[in-house]
Amino acid sequence: MIHTTPESQIPYSIRVSSRCKYGRITFKNGLFEVVIPPHLKEDYGHKFMAEKQAWAQTQLNLLQQKTASFEPRTAIPTTTEGWLEAKCQLKKIVKRYIAKHHNTLGAPKQLKIKNMTSRWGSLSSKQNMNINLMLYFAPEFVIEYVVVHELCHLTHMNHSNRFWQLVAQNDPHYAKAERWLKTFGNTLLSMHHKASLKN
Ligand SMILES: [Zn+2]
Repeated sequence: MIHTTPESQIPYSIRVSSRCKYGRITFKNGLFEVVIPPHLKEDYGHKFMAEKQAWAQTQLNLLQQKTASFEPRTAIPTTTEGWLEAKCQLKKIVKRYIAKHHNTLGAPKQLKIKNMTSRWGSLSSKQNMNINLMLYFAPEFVIEYVVVHELCHLTHMNHSNRFWQLVAQNDPHYAKAERWLKTFGNTLLSMHHKASLKN
């Protein structure tokens, strides 16, 4: 039977082994298996896996980074006009998501789509929002997540538990989107670099 961890939804199975003295986790072919000794209850296995969530996430990220390739949502432009068009289209999408969440989260004073090398979005203390142009090529649920993330900074200018609660309340896919960015983010950023070298 396949279980999933409560927060990060990582799938795993539990196996009882008489040769096992303490709980342990194995990771083979992308699958986690919690091995527990017969005298311990299955609950112990669940607790054990929940405690190791961060570690498990790292293992998954490492595995995925090795094979991190994805199809951009739309083709990467090869001309200056193409990039300007991408910028314009992404602005429309971001505005649509701002409008969607406006009632609960508010709206930034200004919105700019920018070339950024290490961040997906930012919100200044003057409530100006910057969004990374390369997000245009990511799946829409990732774009929405970054917009919601920055909008939540209108309420909390930090990454406190309350901030993440607000994110979770407004975007049920935020964990999946975070995972996507961790896995494919660098690939996505390097696509811009490669494309601009061609110009
Ligand atoms: Zn943030």
